[in-house]
Amino acid sequence: MFLIYCPHCEEHREEPEFHASGEAHLARPEDPEACTDEQWGEFLYFRKNPRGLHRELWVHSAGCRKFFNILRDTQTYQIHGSYKVGEWLEVDVQKDDEVSSS
Ligand SMILES: [Zn+2]
Repeated sequence: MFLIYCPHCEEHREEPEFHASGEAHLARPEDPEACTDEQWGEFLYFRKNPRGLHRELWVHSAGCRKFFNILRDTQTYQIHGSYKVGEWLEVDVQKDDEVSSS
């Protein structure tokens, strides 16, 4: 068991209190009606699966029930930091290791 820092509660809590909700920073198309089926399907179902740094959306489901983001290394499980939705976290890791959002 490991500890995760909740930026809303401002404390470390045990991992079973949290639930991973997939990739973070997914932008919903501004006009879904204008999307092709392929574009909409891409938004709904296709996610990155990087080896290395990955920004993930988590929810403190057994705590404050708020969503936040985690920057985690998928190889080592090391969490480089947690931050609130709408914010961004810079870490001192080589930029090449991070998956670009474009
Ligand atoms: Zn919390």
